[in-house]
Amino acid sequence: MSDCTLTLASDATHPLKYNGQIMTEKMNVESFNLDHRTVVAPYVRVADRKVLPHGDQLTKYDVRFTQPNTAHLDMPSVHSIEHLFAEKSRNHSDAVIDFGPMGCQTGFYLILAGDPAYDDVLALIEATFTDILAATEVPAANETQCGWGSNHSLEGAQAAVRAMLAERDTWSSVTA
Ligand SMILES: [Zn+2]
Repeated sequence: MSDCTLTLASDATHPLKYNGQIMTEKMNVESFNLDHRTVVAPYVRVADRKVLPHGDQLTKYDVRFTQPNTAHLDMPSVHSIEHLFAEKSRNHSDAVIDFGPMGCQTGFYLILAGDPAYDDVLALIEATFTDILAATEVPAANETQCGWGSNHSLEGAQAAVRAMLAERDTWSSVTA
């Protein structure tokens, strides 16, 4: 890659990352600028809004299940929540772009097309979680459709989702 390309990429992308606001002394990843000691899980937080070159927008949500650095989900439960949410959320909305686990195992990132009303996003998550509690199997939990088909726990996923749903009234409250 030439110096010219590097310069262009930096100049072109940096303002877009923050919707025109130039921010200094910030890390590139939004959540790396979040003080994880100050949040109170569970919660659903807008983590990023990105306007694409042709004007389309994506919105990313931090769907936090457990208190950072205090508790985390086990990996089979994370994996099954990922499969269940990815499949069942799309029965409720065609705006779902992605639902993926955080490496710290404390939550997930949900990416939606557009900039939906926050309460509608909570309703989508609640409806999907309700589906997960009613599920009798984890979709695509096999060696044909998944990279680690035996690494699943429907019971674990449902327990985590049940605990998250029990706190539904406080999802919008991110900090104490
Ligand atoms: Zn999988």
